[in-house]
Amino acid sequence: MSALPEPSPLDAELRLPEHLQAILGSIETLHAEEVAPREQALKHRLSDESQYLDTDGKLHPEIIEARRQIMAAAGAAGVYSAHLPKRLGGGGLGRTDMIYVEEKVYGYGCRLNPALLSWSEGATPRLLYCHEHQREQFTDPLVRGQKTSLHAVTESGAGSNLFDMKTHAVKRGDDWVLSGAKAYITNAFDADVAQVLAMTHPGHGRRSFTYFMFDTREYLSKGYRIGKVYQTMFGDGYTGEIFFDDMVLPESAIIGEPGQGFDIAVMSFNYTRMRRAGMCSGWSKYLIEQSLDRVKSRQIGDKPLGANQGIQWMLADMYVDWLQARSLSLEVARAIDSPGPWYRLPRPKDEIRKICALKVSNDESFYRVADRALQVHGGYGVMRNTEVNKLFQIARNLRIPGGTDEVQRTTIAETLGLRFEASKSAPASAGKTRQ
Ligand SMILES: Cc1cc2nc3c(=O)[nH]c(=O)nc-3n(C[C@H](O)[C@H](O)[C@H](O)COP(=O)(O)OP(=O)(O)OC[C@H]3O[C@@H](n4cnc5c(N)ncnc54)[C@H](O)[C@@H]3O)c2cc1C
Repeated sequence: MSALPEPSPLDAELRLPEHLQAILGSIETLHAEEVAPREQALKHRLSDESQYLDTDGKLHPEIIEARRQIMAAAGAAGVYSAHLPKRLGGGGLGRTDMIYVEEKVYGYGCRLNPALLSWSEGATPRLLYCHEHQREQFTDPLVRGQKTSLHAVTESGAGSNLFDMKTHAVKRGDDWVLSGAKAYITNAFDADVAQVLAMTHPGHGRRSFTYFMFDTREYLSKGYRIGKVYQTMFGDGYTGEIFFDDMVLPESAIIGEPGQGFDIAVMSFNYTRMRRAGMCSGWSKYLIEQSLDRVKSRQIGDKPLGANQGIQWMLADMYVDWLQARSLSLEVARAIDSPGPWYRLPRPKDEIRKICALKVSNDESFYRVADRALQVHGGYGVMRNTEVNKLFQIARNLRIPGGTDEVQRTTIAETLGLRFEASKSAPASAGKTRQ
């Protein structure tokens, strides 16, 4: 008889709230019934980089299909959109509760399990600004995990500073004509729905931008083009460029109101940053558990690797990083939940500062955990097809998207009073334009 696996020493520290037992139980069931069998069936692709991607360097269609099936199953079980309000068909959970949900999902590693929860390609907070006429075609299927979307803000010449954006839309009669190009877009090749930020009212400060939403397949013959796949360091086959060649869109394609794009974008970025909490906690926990297993089972000479103090201290440092980031995340989440739902605008300034701190803390703690996890795994950790290696690469990447960690620091400093008037030679918009 094989021995039962040892319980993780970290599990006891999660202190899962009683009222979340049902959703956490659903995640366990979904993992056992929807995720694990598909991971087993696609083992050859998930553990071999050359089979993970198709011959054109894009994510293999079998993996895309498996992810879509998991998303839809998680949607039907009320997990996928647990973060959205009930009026949209979501679960109505606050940020504190979502940390427990996220860390449960990401605690399984980085194969197909992340598809259980909506990320930037799914039920994003931009849906809160969709109109009733967009509900049947876009909002409902995105909330249920039956469709996926892309979010297009960044351009090759405009990343951290939104006011560098060249993509623009101009009014022509009752329609808008959208022109430009977007870079580094997640889910560029498979998205059913595009959500695009464009400059519509140049010179109007925060009111300069508008969001548009359209069906990607419908517009492929009407000026929408998909470009190359970027070969990212973590080999996702999922990030690409898109173009708008004078696309004509009706007024009904607008999310929110004309000129409201900046505020919706900032709210979306804040959500992405808050989302780091459970994601980084779950993945860090997973790496600590993998590393504990490794150093206990790996014999070096006459003793386990983990008997060496140098290795023990690395594990201790990983634990300290995990605990620190997780504690800060829960503290920030409680502060966000207390004045009302996280999506209600405007938000207090000190809350923005805390959300920036949350992103920096989680990105950097998780990166240190992943670095040490790779180190204690030795040569095995360097192999590209291992999950430890993949998570290390993902951890390095996370410090860039969602507003880089430097930009978060700048916002923290500014909200502490270190905001200075731009010099006369600087653009008028300087100082209040970053992601
Ligand atoms: C894998 C991946 C997926 C992505 N997915 C999407 C997506 O789905 N949709 C989307 O719209 N975008 C996406 N992005 C783009 C991402 O949001 C941008 O890369 C990011 O905002 C940084 O912009 P940039 O690359 O232009 O860097 P830049 O703005 O050129 O910044 C370069 C460096 O300068 C630093 N810097 C910039 N301004 C300041 C400042 N004021 N003070 C100090 N330092 C500063 C930055 O921190 C960074 O280190 C993705 C990126 C990656 C890598």
